[in-house]
Amino acid sequence: MTLDIRLLTQALAARVIAGADELTALDSAIGDADHGLNMKRGFEAVLGDLDSIAAKPLPDALKAVGTALVMKVGGASGPLYGTLFLTLGKELGSSPGVADCGRALAMAVQAMKARGKSDLGQKTMLDVLGPVAELLMTGETDADAVRKKAKSLAEATIPMKATRGRASFLGERSIGHMDPGARSSELMIDAVCDVLEGRT
Ligand code: ADP
Ligand code: MG
Repeated sequence: MTLDIRLLTQALAARVIAGADELTALDSAIGDADHGLNMKRGFEAVLGDLDSIAAKPLPDALKAVGTALVMKVGGASGPLYGTLFLTLGKELGSSPGVADCGRALAMAVQAMKARGKSDLGQKTMLDVLGPVAELLMTGETDADAVRKKAKSLAEATIPMKATRGRASFLGERSIGHMDPGARSSELMIDAVCDVLEGRT
């Protein structure tokens, strides 16, 4: 598939920035109320570099996004989302298919697990990204199916007990709230689906 990198970058940034208040509200329930601010700062930096990012081939553009996120997001999520984009940049060619994206995302999730000393089932962004990678690896091309999967995975973090990240300090009290990182991952997946479907 051919991707318009400028459109893709703008759509990702716009969705995350529009969701910043919601992400911060989620993080205020089970964290330290900065996830939206962190992500907004990161994607504003990405937008500041938009011309340079859009001029690069996909792998380099993804690496540039990853580098900006590592430098600007901070918190636990900065290095993790940085690792996500840097790994996608390493694993993807210039014109990947859906299954290629799934495999690259699966590699990224592996790298994030190593970085975060974490795994699936701990109420984090990995609980959305891991299963979405699996779905893409099956070659699923229906953007709506991918969107729905991401949404239900983020919702499925509500009854989970956090055992990694700040939310784990709350123990049982982390139950009953959506994980902020799971929601930001859903928002990003949503934005990519919109671009691939030509909605933006
Ligand atoms: P911080 O927790 O440092 O304030 P953020 O609020 O920006 O950072 O990000 C919190 C999100 O990061 C969580 O909702 C969770 O999804 C994710 N997260 C935190 N720690 C880990 C980890 N070790 N592995 C995977 N994801 C994690
Ligand atoms: Mg936080």
